[in-house]
Order: sequence, then C-alpha cells, then structure tokens
Amino acid sequence: MAKQRKALITGITGQDGSYLCELLLSKNYEIYGMVRRASHVPFERIKGIVDRIHILDADLTDQTSIDDIVSSVKPDEIYNLAAQSFVPTSWNQPLLTGEVTALGVTRLLNAMRRHAPKSRFYQASSSEMFGKVLEVPQKETTPFYPRSPYGVSKVYGHYITINYRESYGLYAVSGICFNHESPRRGLEFVTRKVTHGTARIKLGLADELPMGNLKAKRDWGFAGDYVEAMWLMLQQKEPDDYVLATGEIHTVEELLKTSFAAVDLDWRKYVRVDKRFLRPAEVDLLCGDPTKAKRKLGWKPKVNFKQLIDMMVESDLEQLRKG
Ligand code: NDP
Ligand code: GDP
Repeated sequence: MAKQRKALITGITGQDGSYLCELLLSKNYEIYGMVRRASHVPFERIKGIVDRIHILDADLTDQTSIDDIVSSVKPDEIYNLAAQSFVPTSWNQPLLTGEVTALGVTRLLNAMRRHAPKSRFYQASSSEMFGKVLEVPQKETTPFYPRSPYGVSKVYGHYITINYRESYGLYAVSGICFNHESPRRGLEFVTRKVTHGTARIKLGLADELPMGNLKAKRDWGFAGDYVEAMWLMLQQKEPDDYVLATGEIHTVEELLKTSFAAVDLDWRKYVRVDKRFLRPAEVDLLCGDPTKAKRKLGWKPKVNFKQLIDMMVESDLEQLRKG
C-alpha cells in the first residue's frame, strides 16, 4: 500500500482551507492545519471534519512557530492559503497585510527550505495582482499593476515563490486565482454580502442593502472547483504557475439581479449606493484566461455563475431560518 501523504494547510479555518481539507481527506491525506491563536474557537467552516485532522498552533508573523511545525511534520505538500485577504482592510492595516500576506510567504518558504526541501509548496496568488489591468483577458504572462496594499503584498508573495523555486530548486508554485466564492465565503466579500442580504430581505429581517461600486466586473467561480486545481498543481512533473479562472465576467449589478431574482424580488427596490463601500483605488475589471490550466492540468470549473449564486442564496436562507 502507498505511504499516506502529509499535507500542511495554512488558512485551514478559511473558505479555501475548508474545501481543500475535505478534498485531501477524500484522497486519504494526513492533514495538518495551521491555526493562529484566537479568543474563540475558529472551526465553524471545518466543524464536521476537525476530529479527523491535526491542528497546530502557529502564526504567519512568527518564524519560530512556523519552523517548529514544518520541522516536526515534514509535510509532503504545503498549501499556503493564510492571508489578510480582504482588500479594504489592507488600506486600514497596510503593515499587517504586508507582514502576513507578503512576508509570511518568505517565512514559510524559509522553513520549508531548511526543514523539508523535498516538500511541494502552493502559494495562493491573486488576480488582484493584475489590478488596473494591462491586458484582457489576463493570463500568466500579463504584467501586474496592483491597486491596493493587498494586491502589492500578493505580488511580493508571488515573486518570492518563483524566486525560491529558481534560487534553491524547490517545487514551489503559484495559482493566480480569480475570485472564487461559496456559502462559506466571508460575509464582507461582495457575493456573500449580496446573497446574505437577499436572504435577510426575503425573510423580513432587513429592508435595504447598502452597496459600493455596482459597475465593477469580476470573474466569479466556485471555491470547491478551485481547490482541485491547487491539488493538481502539486502533482505535476515540473513546478509551474497557473491562472485559475472561469473566463466569464459579470458586473456587481448582474450579481444583485441574479441573487434577488432567486427569491423573486427586484433588487432595485432594496439596494442603495453608500459611499462608505467605495474604495480609494478600484479594480474595475478582472477576467482570467484559464487556457493553460485546462491544457496542462486538465482542469475546468464545473459550477457556473447562476448555479453558484443560487447555491449561496439557498444556503443563506436555510441558515437564517434555523436562526
Ligand atoms: P479567508 O479570508 O477565508 O481565510 C484566510 C485564512 O488565513 C484564515 O484561516 C485566517 O485565520 C488565516 N490567517 C490570517 N492571518 C493569519 C496569520 N497571521 N497567521 C496564520 N493564519 C492567518 O480566505 P480564502 O479562503 O478566501 O482565501 C485563501 C487564500 O487565497 C488567501 O491567501 C487569499 O488571499 C487567496 N485568494 C483568495 C481568493 C478568493 O476569491 N477567495 C482569490 C485569490 C486569492 P482566521 O480564521 O483565524 O482568521
Ligand atoms: P475583491 O475583488 O477581492 O476586492 O473582492 P470583493 O468581493 O471584496 O469585491 C469585488 C468587487 O465588488 C470590488 O470591485 C468592489 O468594489 C465591489 N463592491 C461593490 N459593492 C461592494 C460591497 O458592498 N462590498 C464589497 N466587498 N465589495 C463591493
């Protein structure tokens, strides 16, 4: 029987970490999830599987704790999903965002280089690196033009991953992920804010939804599809970077229309634009070209935009009804 493989996942309590953990458990991996200290139990997204995995305390801002877990586990695969991941917060906390989302990547790569150099490393890069886009659609070769401290930090994480691959011969790769969502998406992100807001209005718990820029366009996919590509990227002969996207774009206005239509309401009656949700610098349009991932990894997203939004509205209605 083949030896059970060990995977270390940072950000296991987040949206992607929870889906990736389920996927790897289904493939019989032994899972080590890195969790930072909090005053509450942060296992909401992994509550059904937490007994089947090892939880390790560490923080991406703390080199000692990262060294300790990498040297004790010696994982076969490391997925670095942890980050300060919300763009607006990155203007309020630019230094923290740099510490976690940028320098945290170097800390983890250093630990891998010293303690588990044969391990395979996945970095969660972001379409936010393309920012004020220089080409449509965006592909692996499109130059970056980040528009927020978050985007700038992700560019650093992306290049330090490539640099460690080229400098030290590590198997270290970056997935340039376009927006991906699910019923487990944080409530502050636009898709979940809209589906949760729709469900609250439908159930009479709210009567309006304040929003920011309705003209922004995004390439939205389903998180469950994207974690499959992350795993595939670590199973290749040669390490390489890939754009992970659907190639389809929608405006925030279309998102509102689709979400409210799912419960037979007209979004125009409930939505108002609130300046508080506008950003100091906006990313107007993100549209990915996933051709390379399709050709080389055989990966293709399965859930389309309408299915995704319907799934999220349904889940929010169910959760709110339960109270
Ligand atoms: P989430 O915000 O849902 O999860 C972020 C995770 O990082 C949480 O588990 C959080 O822990 C953890 N974390 C934050 N700070 C630290 C720290 N200092 N030390 C250790 N852990 C920390 O993000 P997603 O799951 O949506 O995204 C996963 C990754 O993919 C992120 O790096 C994100 O930037 C990137 N990405 C996501 C995209 C998307 O559309 N979802 C698109 C492109 C890139 P806690 O639970 O304690 O807060
Ligand atoms: P991002 O692409 O990582 O910034 O993901 P978000 O889900 O936070 O935002 C996607 C787009 O929706 C951005 O262009 C936002 O400006 C736009 N948007 C419009 N209204 C809102 C809002 O109320 N909240 C958020 N989070 N985004 C909004």
